[in-house]
Amino acid sequence: MNEKLLRILPNVQKPARYVGGEYKEIIKDKKEVDLRVAFCFPDTYEIGMSNLGMRILYAIMNQMPGVWCERVFAPWGDMEEAMTEHGLPLYGLESGDPLTDFDMIAFTIGYEMSYTNVLNMLRLGNIPLHARDRKGLNQMVFAGGACMYNPEPLADFFDFFCIGEGEEMTPEILELYRKAKKEQWSKEAFLKEVAHIEGVYVPSFYEHVYKEDGRLQEIKIAEGAPERITKRIIQNLDSAHYPTDMIVPNLEIVHDRANLEVMRGCIRGCRFCQAGFTYRPVRPRSPETLLQQAIDSLESSGCHEITLSSLSTSDYRELPKLAEEMLDYCTPRKINLSLPSLRADNFSRELMLKLQQVRKSGLTFAPEAGTQRLRDAINKNVTEEEILETCRIAFEGGWNNVKLYFMLGLPTETDEDVLGIAELVYKILKTWRAHASNKKRGCRIHVATAYFVPKPFTPFQWEKQISPEEYIRRQRLLKENMPSKSIEYNWHAADVSRLEAVLARGDRRLGKLLENVLAKGERLDAWDEYFNYQLWLDAFADCGIDPNFYTVRGYEEEELLPWALISDGVQEAYLKAERKRAYASQTTPDCRTQCSACGANCLLKGGKCDG
Ligand code: SF4
Repeated sequence: MNEKLLRILPNVQKPARYVGGEYKEIIKDKKEVDLRVAFCFPDTYEIGMSNLGMRILYAIMNQMPGVWCERVFAPWGDMEEAMTEHGLPLYGLESGDPLTDFDMIAFTIGYEMSYTNVLNMLRLGNIPLHARDRKGLNQMVFAGGACMYNPEPLADFFDFFCIGEGEEMTPEILELYRKAKKEQWSKEAFLKEVAHIEGVYVPSFYEHVYKEDGRLQEIKIAEGAPERITKRIIQNLDSAHYPTDMIVPNLEIVHDRANLEVMRGCIRGCRFCQAGFTYRPVRPRSPETLLQQAIDSLESSGCHEITLSSLSTSDYRELPKLAEEMLDYCTPRKINLSLPSLRADNFSRELMLKLQQVRKSGLTFAPEAGTQRLRDAINKNVTEEEILETCRIAFEGGWNNVKLYFMLGLPTETDEDVLGIAELVYKILKTWRAHASNKKRGCRIHVATAYFVPKPFTPFQWEKQISPEEYIRRQRLLKENMPSKSIEYNWHAADVSRLEAVLARGDRRLGKLLENVLAKGERLDAWDEYFNYQLWLDAFADCGIDPNFYTVRGYEEEELLPWALISDGVQEAYLKAERKRAYASQTTPDCRTQCSACGANCLLKGGKCDG
């Protein structure tokens, strides 16, 4: 181990974050490696090690002969200080080598508030921040992940972005890079070629020109660059690589369990939900594949918990069969089977009783809005009766814990909708009083509200975000009207969600904002210990950028959007039609009940999207 690191570790919290050496980490002989990738996750070890995308791509890259992919996580503040003080640059966990030793530096970015960490990690690795300052093929910096459907705020810093799913695209990119390295291409020549791999977006080939009022006027496309970048998807998840041989972390991580991805995509189409659109179309794995993957993951990791994950696991058609087979395997071994993201409308009593055999975890529902009118406007196809009925079944089955998630500031929301949340909570409380089979411990209802953030690629991508003052007023209104003091009510901070809105719909002018706020010392924004809103406000002022331009202003439907050249397969006309339906409180059936011709199914070979 590096001597500097040895000196530093006794003085930082959780040194296990920084040493690697875990069971099942991948170590390769450098003599047999001709392409080294530093795979960076812009948050702590505990968060990054829980990230499924990172696990999948780490396995896929390391499966390639001659390629060695290592993990890099953002250091906590104490570690960063110590590294700076001792002159230790950011390094790959497996080899301990600094970022400058790697050919490619890849990021997976799933949260806007990690953008400062991205820049900070480059800085700590002594990698020039701006793509234009990195000459030659070395240290090619690229990124993928859920936020990269609008990568514009990071455009100045990255050589290219991967739009969509990376399982097939990543090896193609790595093979091209290997060829370029062997044949000593220039960086320009590599970028020209890589831009023609489907799903790759090279921002330097696109010049953004702005109008005087600040809106985008034109995107000039360099000769030969693609006019549109369409996301990549995996056609058949059953044949896609899935990492059952996962690294067993040295310390407790956020999701410390085996993870089974039952399907990709969501049939629902909630109008605020970016993932619900960008992950289309729905592609399930077969229960046979999943059962085998479950057994392999549990046996290789020794985990005592496995989760069935996806955007909406209760919509997985074969869930009863799969749950039954998995319980047959898990119950005698005392392995807990957990199902996150269950919907209120189809949570079956049978399944609930079966899961109870192992462990009784709390119920979590996300009605998102308090009234049926608003739930229809956002296309959250769940009724109050369904929510109450599900709660009744749960309370009768012995559950006492319910978590409810809502949003404030959704388009068309009125005070009546806000108060509707309190009314719904009251009805749930009444249901518990009438039906609970186990009243000894009392009923625990946790209510959480988030501040609506309009996201690109959704029908609400043009919407205004309500002002922070208005959000706080609605939040107080709800708090004052909560039916019982025993209800635990938490809310998201307005300032974080406001910044999320800026960065989610931002353009490439925000690059200078990110650099400015980083220079002021801001990073680890997702952590209360570090987040400093005032620094952001100062940075906006320094850069002459008005955050309201990206939030309360709203975008015109005719306006050229910063992410206009990127396509997730869903047609813009469909999003506009969905927006109209929202204003008329009209719902749209889920994709399984009826295809609404959004366009995404056309991404599948032979797929039709014909309504
Ligand atoms: S159910 Fe709605 S909110 Fe949940 S993933 Fe699907 S579209 Fe998104």
